[in-house]
Amino acid sequence: MPVPGELTFVAPRGAKKPPRHLADLTPAERREAVTALGEKPFRARQLSRHYFARLSDDPTSWTDIPAAARERLAGELLPSLMSVVRHISCDGGATRKTLWRLHDGTLVESVLMRYPERVTMCVSSQAGCGMNCPFCATGQAGLDRNLSTAEIVHQIVDGARALRDGEVPGGPARLSNIVFMGMGEPLANYKRVVGAIRRLTDEAPDGVGLSQRGITVSTVGLVPAMRRFTDEGFSCRLAVSLHAPDDELRDTLVPVNTRWKVREVLDAASDYAERSGRRISIEYALIRDINDQAWRADLLGKMLRGRGAHVNLIPLNPTPGSKWTASRPEDERAFVAALEARGVPVTVRDTRGQEIEGACGQLAAAER
Ligand code: SAH
Repeated sequence: MPVPGELTFVAPRGAKKPPRHLADLTPAERREAVTALGEKPFRARQLSRHYFARLSDDPTSWTDIPAAARERLAGELLPSLMSVVRHISCDGGATRKTLWRLHDGTLVESVLMRYPERVTMCVSSQAGCGMNCPFCATGQAGLDRNLSTAEIVHQIVDGARALRDGEVPGGPARLSNIVFMGMGEPLANYKRVVGAIRRLTDEAPDGVGLSQRGITVSTVGLVPAMRRFTDEGFSCRLAVSLHAPDDELRDTLVPVNTRWKVREVLDAASDYAERSGRRISIEYALIRDINDQAWRADLLGKMLRGRGAHVNLIPLNPTPGSKWTASRPEDERAFVAALEARGVPVTVRDTRGQEIEGACGQLAAAER
């Protein structure tokens, strides 16, 4: 079924579909799939336990399944989806970025960020992005294709496994938060992203058993898809990449604004907040002399009044060749002060991973 917001972003012709994987399937579909392979339905649950609960896709460790069945089930339902091109770490190992190569050679990125009280993983929902925001590295390269549900889930399963096994400096740990702020526009790949949220939050062994409250979906503001997302009834957090409070500037910074205006986007976000009970986040990359004027801060504060939104200011991480850069410290301070004066909660995002090209899409862009 066509999905609002997804219509214009069809996969390029000739793109090979990713192989079917356990994580693409609902629990009922998994039972059907193992039955079609001549196995008993309960094998589906065993496989799910290995993959989602034990984070293992290595059939040699599945000792509760006879060896011959293991091979067949692994080959059919747990095909290799992606391989690590490289890991790059910084911040003393607390930030680890992974560049992945998918089965068709497509490159995507994920980032694991370790804080004293939580571990957050930033994942990609598409290879590339069709939204064309001029300050974003991924936007410059265009859309390669949508990721499958399993390609999204596997970034997280692998990250959780690496953390558990102590492969990330700081000792073994558990993943607490997921942010859909890697490559791609998650709501333009609606069905697969929603499928991934279900796999990640269904209780083990059906899914990974993460909390919906720890998941943030970040969008440019595809209004029909935001409304559909509201109807899912999730308690995830929704983040809106606003970057400008006025349509004139936002039309250029977030081109999809020519279709859905600032006010419509904020109204859809407010409805999500009301339905989910979660405060919405407004993402705002501060770009020197472009969107960081005090009057824009003031207008932003006015637009957000009564919406219970939290503003995340992100110092622009300049992309190679861009004429834009981060705001002057005094302008950033004035922007914060203007929002606070209007009673809008605001934080300036820490800029992890700058020296590892942590900004959206930079690592894959460099590889190409
Ligand atoms: N497409 C989604 C999610 C991916 S981008 C969205 O736009 O929300 C995650 C966040 O990083 C967005 O707020 C995006 O605008 C921001 N971003 C992209 N490039 C950036 C850069 N060079 N510097 C700072 N923030 C950037």
